[in-house]
Amino acid sequence: AKSEGRDAYRIFTAAMDETVKVRSTIEEELRLALVTGSDLRLFYQPQVDVDGQSIIGLEALVRWHHPTRGMIAPHQFIAIAEETGLISSLGEWVLRQACLASKRWPDLTIAVNLSPVQFRSSGLAEQLIGIVREAGADPRRIEFEITESLLLDDSDLSRCALKTLRQEGFKIALDDFGTGYSSLSYLRRFEVDKIKIDRSFVQHLGQQDESMAIVTAIVTLCRAMGLTVTAEGVETEDQKRFLSQTGCSEMQGFLFSHALPEEQIEDLLISLRDR
Ligand code: C2E
Ligand code: CA
Ligand code: CA
Ligand code: CA
Repeated sequence: AKSEGRDAYRIFTAAMDETVKVRSTIEEELRLALVTGSDLRLFYQPQVDVDGQSIIGLEALVRWHHPTRGMIAPHQFIAIAEETGLISSLGEWVLRQACLASKRWPDLTIAVNLSPVQFRSSGLAEQLIGIVREAGADPRRIEFEITESLLLDDSDLSRCALKTLRQEGFKIALDDFGTGYSSLSYLRRFEVDKIKIDRSFVQHLGQQDESMAIVTAIVTLCRAMGLTVTAEGVETEDQKRFLSQTGCSEMQGFLFSHALPEEQIEDLLISLRDR
């Protein structure tokens, strides 16, 4: 039994070595991709005002078309970028692209995801402001999506950065709302503009009483506080109807559109204009 255990250990470390190798390869390749910028692309997912029947914004979502590995999904490389510190350069690259998009579509708000790790470096706000100024984009048309975990660690650094960004005119949205452990009082203390109800609640609307109760409570509270509320991951007409009746008219999800490359967004906007 003893030698068996040792073998198991050997197999385990071999598998671990393999994982480490793949990760460091991905790290090197990501570093390179960031230098050349050629294999990375931003896709955009429309955010719609269901009552007004229009597209009001686009969420920028990064894609990595690896020359040999094919398409690598964000959840596969964002974590590596966070662990290796590459997330800062990635974040800068994303924001620069988003600024171009914002100038291309001046009527729309462009939402950009920020990792909590980016907030660990001091001077983040100034750095982001610098990028947007250099690009000549309007901060009021750019919305930063942050997650609850950022508010949880309760650091002055992130609080200051958020304040500076809001003063510059950027909007702040709280992403994946309801999945973390943060209390609702954070909403007041951190002064966000918008909250995005996590897909996990939207998914069960119509099947699960708790999800309906939670969504109703969030929407009611946000409206009372003057916050905009967006539902993410809307996939069915039933979900859309429930949300709309509850008073949530901003939505995002496959029911309306997947994230699309710039050219397809352009086509979509033109077809809506000519409708
Ligand atoms: P997220 O910010 O919560 O983004 C929403 C994710 O849900 C996107 O996945 C989107 O394609 C997907 N989604 C949208 N509507 C639906 C729907 O109706 N049904 C389902 N099943 N999924 C839907 P994606 O693009 O794979 O991104 C995954 C995550 O990766 C994002 O989650 C975000 O946390 C992260 N991410 C993506 N781009 C960036 C980036 O530029 N910077 C950072 N820091 N993180 C990013
Ligand atoms: Ca997001
Ligand atoms: Ca989200
Ligand atoms: Ca998410």
